[in-house]
Amino acid sequence: MADNEMLEIINSHREGILQSDIRKLMGIDSKKCSRMVNKLMKEHLIRRDDELAEGRKTYRLLPIGFIGPSERHLKLIANGIFSPCTGCNLECYPETCYPLNEWVLAVIEEEA
Ligand code: SF4
Repeated sequence: MADNEMLEIINSHREGILQSDIRKLMGIDSKKCSRMVNKLMKEHLIRRDDELAEGRKTYRLLPIGFIGPSERHLKLIANGIFSPCTGCNLECYPETCYPLNEWVLAVIEEEA
């Protein structure tokens, strides 16, 4: 159960959370925290990056699974349509591009 709580906390921090912070947040000791982190990493549910915080070596815990589009990516979605220019390999004539025109209309409709 505590593993699920830890996973939820990590997943709610898209930019990751320091291991020391999650330990304090959950009110657990560092040994138990390390055990839980290792279990989640073994299950490929999170990843752990080295980080220096206030001159001390610690770890940043990051979600691995898809947890929804980020703020930045939401700007590329209009009425459920992702920007057609992303990954496009068509010969590009934006002035007459049908997919782009459709997407711009979706942006306009969404903002109306
Ligand atoms: S404008 Fe049209 S052709 Fe050009 S990149 Fe976007 S979708 Fe592709």
